[in-house]
This record gives sequence, C-alpha cells and structure tokens, in this order.
Amino acid sequence: MADPHSHVYFGDRLVPTREATLSVASSAVLYGLSVYTVFPVHVDGESRRTAFRLRDHYRRLVESCKIIGIDRFADEWSFDRFVSVTKELVAANAPKSDVFVRATVHVDATIPGTRVRGCHTTVSMFVYDATPIVPQDGMRLKTSMWRRIPDDAIPSRAKVNGAYVNSVLAKQDAIDAGYDDAIFLDGNGHVCELSAANIFLVRGGTLITPDVSCDILDGINRRTLLTLAAEDGIPVVERAVDLTELYIADEVFATGTSAGVAPVLEVDGRVVGDGLTGPVCQALRKRHTAALRSDELHGWVSDLG
Ligand code: PMP
Repeated sequence: MADPHSHVYFGDRLVPTREATLSVASSAVLYGLSVYTVFPVHVDGESRRTAFRLRDHYRRLVESCKIIGIDRFADEWSFDRFVSVTKELVAANAPKSDVFVRATVHVDATIPGTRVRGCHTTVSMFVYDATPIVPQDGMRLKTSMWRRIPDDAIPSRAKVNGAYVNSVLAKQDAIDAGYDDAIFLDGNGHVCELSAANIFLVRGGTLITPDVSCDILDGINRRTLLTLAAEDGIPVVERAVDLTELYIADEVFATGTSAGVAPVLEVDGRVVGDGLTGPVCQALRKRHTAALRSDELHGWVSDLG
C-alpha cells in the first residue's frame, strides 16, 4: 500500500495523517479487532470525482461489524454520513489521479480482554494512490501451503483486519518462492481465492468462480464481473472448484479493488491456456474499467462532487 495522503478522517473529523493514531493498548492493535473496506475513487480532471459501488462497500462494512459483534457502527454511521465523509475526505486531499479509500472501524477500547460487544469504536478513512497489488499483464501463482481460514474460525466474508495474517503468510510465501501471489485452498482442497482477490476460470466458454460458501470474501468486483458477464451472454457458474481445474482451464484471472481484472498466466508451474491473456478476461476487463468510470445502467457510480 502507498502512503496515506495528507488528511485522514479519524473519529469525527479530518486530521493531519500523523495525528490519526490508536493506543497500543487498544483491541484494534492487540487483537487486530477492526473491520474495513477499500473502494476506488476515479478522478477525472480537476472537478469530477466518482466512487464505485459505495453503497455495497458500506453494506459490507455494516455486515462485517455484525458478524464480529461490533454493535455501534450501524447506529452511529448511516449511509448518508458515510457518503458525506467520503466527499469531505476526498475534497480535502484533492487527488490528481485515481485513489483508493480505506475505511476502517477500529475497536479502540483499551485492554478489555477478548470481547467486543459494547466496546468503543473509532472510524478512520484515508486516501492513497490506486496502485495495483498484482501485475496487470499476467501473473504467476503458487498454491499456498497455508489453508484459508474457514467460516467457523474467522469468516472470510467479514473483512477483519486480524484475519489478514492468513493472507500475509500466503502472499509472503508465494513471493519468497518467486511467484506473484498465492492460491488459497480450503480444508478439503477446493480453491478459495488469492491472498486479496477473487479468482475466476474459463472452461469451454463458461465463466466459473467459487461460490460464496467456499470461504471467500464476497468481493464487490467479483459480483460486478458476474453481472457484466451474464449481461454479455457468457454462461456463469458459481460452484466448488478443484485445484486441477485451474491447471486445465482456458483462462484464469483475478478480480478485486486493488487487483483490477488481472490475468493469471501460470499456476504451479503450468501454463494457463495458451499462456496469453484470454478473450473473456480481456472483454470483462474492458467492461469493468468502463463501469468504474461511469455507469448509468446499474447505479454503481456515485458523484463525489
Ligand atoms: N478476497 C480478499 C481476501 C480480499 O482482501 C479482497 C480485496 N478486498 C478481495 C477478495 C476482492 O474484494 P473486492 O472486489 O471487494 O475488492
């Protein structure tokens, strides 16, 4: 992640970034007890700034809180407040090019032991340069020896900061072995996702992705691609995926806010398809890039002024 821009929303106001600090004794620091989302803001010249699927990001944040037992956020933060703070934050930082906004609900009660309900929370939101976290021109993946945390341990559908230790283990291991990212499997050997992106494969013209009960994050770009593909008449299937299906797929690609729509050209030393970015990936990437900027059909793009 790039450095945060100059101003951070912290608690109930904008502050210079260095002043947005949490106690070392807070549950957020001690246990990773925070939930978050990251959404993209497209900057078009001086005056036009738009956010993508803001309502869905807000809803997922509320749902992450609910799953974890953080019970104050939904009462204190309406969607309208979320939008107006986003506008204020982006205007204060006046980015010249596309940025990501990371919004986090931190449990900042100090040393309450391992519990959550009723604990004080602080919301932070900051802006940083929209740099992709994986290569955009073809990546090489390695199946991780680390398994995805199952729903009955730390649910992947909740974006919990502490759970990202699982992603760090997998990603670092992949990088150390000379790969770009990792593929997580679940306890039964089924494919889940990358360290911070969802996965798709194409076999015989059908777009396939693990379903939402496969210990994945219910990614907002995953949903976007499923919608765009269905609109383009591409057959779409959400189901359990075996690792070896990736080896014989015509195409594999990853999606996410920070991953974009990124082709995968090698999995565990096996070339995917003909080793080039496939036509389905190319077509969906084009549709996705356009949708991030303007979208009248689905109401996905909000004007931030
Ligand atoms: N899976 C994980 C584990 C992630 O961290 C992310 C990034 N948020 C994704 C998938 C993609 O989700 P989204 O499309 O909502 O960015």
